[in-house]
Amino acid sequence: MSLTVPSTSSFKAVGQKRWLLPFSLTVPLIRDPPGIENPTSHTKNPLKWIGAIRFYLVYANSLVFQQHLDRPSFILNQCKTMSLTGRIHSIETCGTVDGPGLRFVVFTQGCPLRCLYCHNPDCREVTGGREVTVEELMEEIDRYASYIKNGGVTVTGGEPMMQPEFVTELLHQCQLKGIHTAIDTSGYVTLEAAKPILDRADLVLLDIKSFDPTIYRRVTSVSLQPTLNFAKHLQAIGKPTWIRFVLVPDLTDPRDNVAGLAEFIGTLDNVERVEVLPFHKMGEYKWEALGYPYQLQNTPPPTPEAIANTVQQFEKRGLTVVV
Ligand code: SF4
Repeated sequence: MSLTVPSTSSFKAVGQKRWLLPFSLTVPLIRDPPGIENPTSHTKNPLKWIGAIRFYLVYANSLVFQQHLDRPSFILNQCKTMSLTGRIHSIETCGTVDGPGLRFVVFTQGCPLRCLYCHNPDCREVTGGREVTVEELMEEIDRYASYIKNGGVTVTGGEPMMQPEFVTELLHQCQLKGIHTAIDTSGYVTLEAAKPILDRADLVLLDIKSFDPTIYRRVTSVSLQPTLNFAKHLQAIGKPTWIRFVLVPDLTDPRDNVAGLAEFIGTLDNVERVEVLPFHKMGEYKWEALGYPYQLQNTPPPTPEAIANTVQQFEKRGLTVVV
């Protein structure tokens, strides 16, 4: 990892101290440093003036550096963290479906789940995608600042929680610029890894693929419990959360499965809305291109009635539902 130029904000933080140099030079004229001979008593000896001026320059600079020394770790950390690298699949500059308003969406590379209906199977492998620094992404985000000012930045994937340091710093830099931040996750993560990211996320989009553990494993190839633990943690810290549920005929649509999920979400007072996402096959061509067997080729999209019934089950629990 190489050190790169600090962010604009840290430059300002340093630059703002520069005015202290001329100001500091005036300080010894009204109050000499303790233990130092007063130069004004040697006005007739030019050599002593030069010596005194040299001393004051050193003294003044020490005052300036003192200001910086108050925060050396901050400045060094800024250099390091802005150069943190992560692997991303792609970006979408004006997304409309991953959080409120118009959003800059970062798709991270790597995911531990293997969802049968995944639209982005090319995000799976951690070694794929391309490497970027936080600084490079922030430069890109800055270009769209005026478009996303009423929206924000969403980090999705793949699974963003697989790159906790990188994502934490990216969200942190966004927040420093007053940009709303959201994270889209399956919640299949240890809470320790997730906490720093959650500190920097204004909103969490949590994908709960099923409430029935058997169905959950069939859909994702992993266990459900970490996601439920994650959801309860979000409630405990009062994190604004949107829940996402993909409705797949003959897979996630059993009535008990939806009812159980609705009941569980109904107990979480931090949930602002539930998004019911009807299954579609727009990502199927990617599976074919990657040579992955796509098991849902004969699965149709849910009927309007099935969608309405699912919405109704969530609404019965007092939840706001969006399709
Ligand atoms: S969690 Fe998302 S990216 Fe990962 S496999 Fe499932 S649908 Fe695909």
